[in-house]
Amino acid sequence: MSVILVTGGAGFIGANFVRHWRATHPADAVVVLDALTYAGNRESLDGIDGVELVEGDIRDFDLARKLLAEREIDRLVHFAAESHVDRSIHGPDIFIETNVLGTLSLLKAAKAVWLDTGSGRPHRFHHVSTDEVYGTLGPDDPGFSETTPYAPNSPYSASKASSDHIVRAYHETYGLDVTTSNCSNNYGPFQYPEKLIPLFLINALHGKALPIYGDGMQRRDWLHVGDHCRAIQAVVEDGKSGEVYNVGGGAELPNLELIDRICATVDRLFETDPGLAERFPEAPAARGRPSDSLKSHVEDRLGHDRRYAIDDSKIAAELGCRPVRSIDEGLEETVRWYLANEAWWRAVMARQAAE
Ligand code: NAD
Repeated sequence: MSVILVTGGAGFIGANFVRHWRATHPADAVVVLDALTYAGNRESLDGIDGVELVEGDIRDFDLARKLLAEREIDRLVHFAAESHVDRSIHGPDIFIETNVLGTLSLLKAAKAVWLDTGSGRPHRFHHVSTDEVYGTLGPDDPGFSETTPYAPNSPYSASKASSDHIVRAYHETYGLDVTTSNCSNNYGPFQYPEKLIPLFLINALHGKALPIYGDGMQRRDWLHVGDHCRAIQAVVEDGKSGEVYNVGGGAELPNLELIDRICATVDRLFETDPGLAERFPEAPAARGRPSDSLKSHVEDRLGHDRRYAIDDSKIAAELGCRPVRSIDEGLEETVRWYLANEAWWRAVMARQAAE
């Protein structure tokens, strides 16, 4: 039995990971450390037993040290971060404070408890990072590998890049057992409705414009959060200490094509379920019109990277881990989840409006 600390466990990927870990490791205790910022939701952990939610900040060194020592935590999976690129363009400070200084604070606490007090317990600090640290690719470049040089372009990706380097340094300098994963764009249940897939879906349900940055030809590799959680588990359990693993979804698409697929999924589900037109009368699909009629191009994001793609051959070869969901299966599952969990996203959006 293990006791695992999940930072940012009330956020999108963290909450999915907590569910995944409880399902696959029912004997383990899970402690979530989350500051419940605008992106964190208590409700995302509803209905899971064996999880203790501690409301607190990863920058609070004393709190992290106390939790690690008193709960006898031997694994830490670090998701907590400011994660939205657009927000980092308008207000970079909190990205440095949370993503850089917060990660440093956690590493200091882990070193204090796992190395300095000499408990000798096996430990692991897993850091969840992003492919955005590698910058942008040309149309024919090979995907990012673990040896691609860092070239972050936004304040968000620069803060994540910085945290990746500090994690590495704690391994090289102090011998802390660390692993890092850099993944592509995630999608799936419990994603905050400011991110592309839930935002466009919810806008389509309300007959609101679908705002496409620039020409919409930015390419991303879409990773279902369930596949991401399996990959993190593989790295936490079997990854080599000090190593980095890139995780992709095997679904590289231009944004425009992804948006067309979201629209087509919504249209198809409205055709087969007449109850949806009653629930969402403002949706074009409720009146037999295509959801993609809502597409509207807006000014591009500053410094918008054109293309990300992942070379996941290392995690596939060393840990036997590959995504299992196709983008079409994953999208349909996700759209169905949002339709079935309207209370969750309405509560999140009501809080957002009150901010
Ligand atoms: P999210 O924004 O949905 O959740 C972040 C969580 O961290 C929230 O619950 C928030 O309350 C918490 N948090 C923020 N600041 C905190 C602090 N100071 N102390 C404690 N908790 C704090 O993010 P996400 O999309 O779930 O991303 C999780 C991790 O995965 C992040 O590190 C992100 O950089 C990385 N990542 C995400 C994606 C993606 O597509 N979502 C892709 C690559 C990497």
